[in-house]
Amino acid sequence: MKKTAIGIDLGGTTIKFAWITESGEVTEQWVEPTPVHDHGSQIVPTILASLQNKMKAHGLTPGDFFGIGMGSPGAVDHQAGTVTGAYNLNWTKTVHIKQQIESALNLPFVLDNDANVAALGEQWKGAGNNAADVVFVTLGTGVGGGVISRGKLVRGVSGAAGEIGHIKVEPNGFPCTCGGTGCLETVASATGIVNLAKAEAESFAGTSGLAQLIMKEEAVSAKIIFDRARQKDPFAELVLQKVGGYLGIACANIANILNPSAIVLGGGVSKAGELLLHYVRPYFEQHAFPSVKETTSLRIATLENTAGVLGAGLLVFKQVETDETVKQHVQIQQRTGA
Ligand SMILES: [Zn+2]
Repeated sequence: MKKTAIGIDLGGTTIKFAWITESGEVTEQWVEPTPVHDHGSQIVPTILASLQNKMKAHGLTPGDFFGIGMGSPGAVDHQAGTVTGAYNLNWTKTVHIKQQIESALNLPFVLDNDANVAALGEQWKGAGNNAADVVFVTLGTGVGGGVISRGKLVRGVSGAAGEIGHIKVEPNGFPCTCGGTGCLETVASATGIVNLAKAEAESFAGTSGLAQLIMKEEAVSAKIIFDRARQKDPFAELVLQKVGGYLGIACANIANILNPSAIVLGGGVSKAGELLLHYVRPYFEQHAFPSVKETTSLRIATLENTAGVLGAGLLVFKQVETDETVKQHVQIQQRTGA
C-alpha cells in the first residue's frame, strides 16, 4: 500500500472520511452522519468505530497508515489536540480528541480547525495549484480563512491566526458574533449578504423585484440575490457592488501583507463563481499595492466537498516533517515494510 494518511472532516451534519496518499490521491472515501445528540458524546466513538469497520472490511490495520488528520469546528488547540466550544456539535466543554483516538488506534493524530484544513486542501489540490503562498477565504454561514505561507499553515501564538471573517470593513457596521462591529463576516457571509440587502432595501428608491421581495418580508438567500443580479435587477447589483467592495478591500489588505500567489474564495457564496469575482476584482485592484496587484490573483475554489479531507491528510504528511513522534512512527512503519 502506498504511503497513506486518513483524513477526517468533522462537521455539524456529516463526518467525511478519506484515505489520502502522499501525492493527494483519494483512494477511499465515505461519510457518516454526525451524532450530535447527548452533547455530542457519541461523536468520537462513532469516528473510531467507523475507522475500525472500514479497515476491517479492507483487511487493513492502523499500522497500514501514517496517521490521522482531522479538521474540526470550534476553538482548536492544535498542540493538545482538543476542541472547545464547537456549538454545532453540541460540544460546550473541552473535548480531548487526540488523546482518545491515539490511545484507541495507536496512530499519530493531528488536529486543526476546519477552515485551516480546507485551506490546506485547496492550496494542495485545488485552486492554489500547490503554490507555497496561498490564502483561503471561506464564505459560508460565517466567513473563515486559512493562511499558508512558505508552505506552512500560519497558526499564530494561540492558533487564532487567519480569522479573516473578523477583518474590519465598516467601523460602525453591523454587530458581529465576536462581540465587535463591522467585521467582514457581517456583510460577506451568506447571512451577511442577506442582512446587508435588508438594510439597503429601506433606502432603495428604484424599481426592483428583489427589493419588493425583501420589503414584503419574503425569504431571500444569498443565492437569490446573485440570481437576481444575473438578471440585472438593479437592487441586487447595488447590494453585490457593496459586498464586492467589502471583500475587495479585505482581500487587498490580506494581499498587501502576505503577497500570496492566490487568494482563493470558497464556501457556499463562492458557487456564484465568475459573477462573484466580477464584483470583487475591481475593488481588489483599486486597493492592492501595485506590485501585489500584479502578482496576487483572486480565484474561486475548485474542490468543494473534498478540500477538508485532503487538507486533513496533508496535515499528517506535513507533521511528518516536523514532529518527532510522527517521524518515528513512520520510520518504524517503513522498516517493517508495512
Ligand atoms: Zn467579528
